[in-house]
Amino acid sequence: MDLSYDKLFIGGDWVAPSSSRTIEVFSASTEEPIGRVPEAVDADVDAAVVAARTAFQDPTGWATWEPSARADAIERLATALDSRGTEMARRVSAQNGMPISIATMLEAAFPQVVLRYYAGLIRSAVLDETRDGLLGGKVRVRRTPVGVVGGIAPWNYPVTLAAFKLGPALAMGCTIVLKPSPETVLDAQLLAEAVAEAGLPPGVINIVQGGRETGAYLVQHPGIDKVAFTGSTAAGRQIAETCGRLLRPVTLELGGKSAAIVLDDADLGSNLENLFAATLLNNGQTCYLGTRVLAPASRYEEVVDTLTGFASSLQVGDALDPATQIGPMASARQRDRVESYIAKGRGDGARLTTGGGRPAGLDKGWFVEPTVFADVDNSSTIAQEEIFGPVLSVISYRDVDDAVRIANDSAFGLGGSVWTADPARGAEVAQRVQTGTIGVNAYTPDPVAPFGGVKDSGLGRELGPEGLASYQSVQSVYLQA
Ligand code: NAD
Repeated sequence: MDLSYDKLFIGGDWVAPSSSRTIEVFSASTEEPIGRVPEAVDADVDAAVVAARTAFQDPTGWATWEPSARADAIERLATALDSRGTEMARRVSAQNGMPISIATMLEAAFPQVVLRYYAGLIRSAVLDETRDGLLGGKVRVRRTPVGVVGGIAPWNYPVTLAAFKLGPALAMGCTIVLKPSPETVLDAQLLAEAVAEAGLPPGVINIVQGGRETGAYLVQHPGIDKVAFTGSTAAGRQIAETCGRLLRPVTLELGGKSAAIVLDDADLGSNLENLFAATLLNNGQTCYLGTRVLAPASRYEEVVDTLTGFASSLQVGDALDPATQIGPMASARQRDRVESYIAKGRGDGARLTTGGGRPAGLDKGWFVEPTVFADVDNSSTIAQEEIFGPVLSVISYRDVDDAVRIANDSAFGLGGSVWTADPARGAEVAQRVQTGTIGVNAYTPDPVAPFGGVKDSGLGRELGPEGLASYQSVQSVYLQA
């Protein structure tokens, strides 16, 4: 793969960048260069924001269209992405190491599910209603688009997490400047091609490729009305500070360190596929994973053995190989970070039961073996900090109260899961966990359900009608009788 671009997608057109800076992209599996795109500098962000604002303020433009017309356009975008699905999966896999079997579902198909969901939602949404007041008059409540959105996505699910922002923003009539992560820019170029094919009005979607500085410049830009960010808690805090100072609406989907609570009646062995998706999906590079596995003291060794056997059985290899279950980390930096946590776990006295090193026979690529630590203390670094790699920590608990206490003893609160033979009991335990989302015997984020975190995992929600609400401005008009 060698994909070279020399233009940015701004104002519905492919335009020459204002500088000669480029972003080089490397294959996570082979470390070979696979493409380059121009890096957007401040002047390019300015142009993208002007294009988005012009499109938003056009008196007969996107924001004024009937919701059904916008829904049609969103569906055309979904169709344009459908026809690029194979290539999209390939680009994502090559860039960030996501196994192609997963990328095919979660990056090449799921984004369109999200887009179509919002197209459907806006067709039936009530955006203008009149209520009987309590003080004699009536009140008209109007929901209008919040304006020009600055959307910032991370590299782990670049297309899906862009769609989490595009779907509701477009449905409401907002326009958007999207900044992908520098690790995953080739998929964003393909997205731009789909936008062009779908015939969205110029300026409705603009893409600025760049790193942290480009993102920071976008966040504080005077032409932006709302920021939608997915990424690390550290960056989220900085963005929140800026938005706080500017009183600019912001949603933050940040990191996690969720708990997978195995109840004493669980049969993990019969549910390994769901367990994989809830704890190790995308090489552990998924924000909501239950990487702290809480096991009852009465069955502790059995759970450790099951996880150890399972982790060591996973096929590690080139992300583009359909048989691969665990691919490489997205970057050398990420691989080094995961390895430093593994060293820390060892140093802190946790018991390594499998993995811990680099897989034999894979000399190129940023691979880390699926790793399980037993006898992990919940207060230790590997239990408290997000590792973002294929590393599980198994923590012992006495009884369900103790399990809930440990689950909640975390700075984060994004995902989680409960594993049990009794789903009703699982649901009861789930509601005691301080987290934005949690699953019973599986963890499957569904577009209809609000997704997001509490505590250090973020602010606000994406997906569901709640996700649409965060792209709305609400006005009350008091009508005297
Ligand atoms: P990151 O915070 O380093 O970068 C994310 C994006 O923000 C990138 O596009 C980056 O260029 C940009 N950015 C970084 N600093 C910025 C700043 N100060 N101002 C503006 N933009 C800035 O995160 P990452 O390493 O790319 O992604 C991994 C992190 O994302 C993990 O912590 C993971 O948990 C989190 N994540 C959260 C969710 C969620 O929905 N809660 C989903 C996926 C990933």
